Amino acid sequence: MEQKAYQFWFCTGSQDLYGDECLANVAEHSRIIVDALNASGRLPYEVVWKPTLITNELIRKTFNEANTDENCAGVITWMHTFSPSKSWILGLQEYRKPLLHLHTQFNREIPYDTIDMDFMNENQSAHGDREYGHIFSRLGMERKVVVGFWDEEEVQKKIGSWMRTAVGVIESSHVRVMRIADNMRNVAVTEGDKVEAQIKFGWEVDAYPVNEIVEAVDAVSQADIQALVEEYYSRYEILLEGREEKEFREHVAVQAGIEIGFERFLREKNYQAIVTHFGDLGGLRQLPGLAIQRLMEKGYGFGAEGDWKTAAMVRIMKIMTQGMKDAKGTSFMEDYTYNLVPGKEGILQAHMLEVCPSIAEGPISIKEQPLSMGDREDPARLVFTAKTGPAVAASLIDLGDRFRLIINDVDCKKVEKPMPKLPVATAFWTPQPNLKTGAEAWILAGGAHHTAFSFDLTAEQMGDWADAMGIEAVYIDKDTTIRQFKNELRWNALAYRK
Ligand code: MN
Repeated sequence: MEQKAYQFWFCTGSQDLYGDECLANVAEHSRIIVDALNASGRLPYEVVWKPTLITNELIRKTFNEANTDENCAGVITWMHTFSPSKSWILGLQEYRKPLLHLHTQFNREIPYDTIDMDFMNENQSAHGDREYGHIFSRLGMERKVVVGFWDEEEVQKKIGSWMRTAVGVIESSHVRVMRIADNMRNVAVTEGDKVEAQIKFGWEVDAYPVNEIVEAVDAVSQADIQALVEEYYSRYEILLEGREEKEFREHVAVQAGIEIGFERFLREKNYQAIVTHFGDLGGLRQLPGLAIQRLMEKGYGFGAEGDWKTAAMVRIMKIMTQGMKDAKGTSFMEDYTYNLVPGKEGILQAHMLEVCPSIAEGPISIKEQPLSMGDREDPARLVFTAKTGPAVAASLIDLGDRFRLIINDVDCKKVEKPMPKLPVATAFWTPQPNLKTGAEAWILAGGAHHTAFSFDLTAEQMGDWADAMGIEAVYIDKDTTIRQFKNELRWNALAYRK
């Protein structure tokens, strides 16, 4: 996955009431802040300093330039002094990208011994940022507010975290999902309004006849397939489990052909996510297992059984985590079966085959087993267990009159014992605040069995993304109580009514 070198503009607000000396200080201070942010190593993208915004005309011009600059993924604003917010109305009304209101101050401490009215007038973000914040509320505009001293680690990390959300917002309109199967018959939760999804999220969701992509698979040369099989054999453990070596390798080669053929087809037609269905495989010899797992690892979104909403979410979440140091992984996932033993409650997560190896811990093996569904060759798949630790599971559903994003904090754990007879990759998690309340809230909210899952994103980032998209988000976390949650769903039904 290629990471775009996005930038964020840093715009400082003021006015010409305070004289040139003051404005020179404002500009110098904001340059120092920008340099410190860039030097901190805590921001995933560069901050670009912009001249102080002091007039309606310059504000409007700057925001429109930000709109059209392809590298600009958002604007960070800060009112160093006082900037009457009527000056911002036209610029903000025309602005279309994510905005962060950094409520900071150049000096950390009040200079008790020397403070005078000149200092107060020059350093009054406590005053100016309130006037500025008001106009967003009046305009009903989404923005992120981060409060605190600019040189603090926590503040810088929050800015960095928001930058990832902002890139998820900007990139959403570049997500194109290829469906090579329709929705699984009779299944409701994976359905949705694709026109509304394009209006809300910018996603293009297109269908292709499965045999068109099969032609691309069949066109892959034996040399290319064998080279990729060699790579598999050098990277992964081979678990023959009594199967004949030659036949095993031939089955693996089928997945290599699918990986190469699918990827060429996706690239040629500019799609970043793909949807399959075990019941609609056309001329494919196996359900894409290992092949899809590898594509997900490369950054493609994926959803099974026609689930284009989850495929797009997985893609966006992979973009949001791009370039992250020590990333622990992002995957398509499915709730399968429970452990209901008191004190050990949790949900075993897996799919028929398609779990992304980016979340793996320990060895990754290739296995072949029959599928209990479908009518194809025993597919090769990567088998592993997931890392442990806090993570987030998200489900985007279509309620008919609106989309809702359900966001659950979960704690991933190791299962107590190995599961030698289970031939799929797994994770095991306990939802916050506990299994009973977490699962009850999830079901009340209408959440799916499919999720877009990540170790590397937070509920705050996912919720901010939903806010920017103008859709409903509900959180299931350590503070969730069922009584409060049910009320929230009731109130949201009114708040989001069209
Ligand atoms: Mn499924």
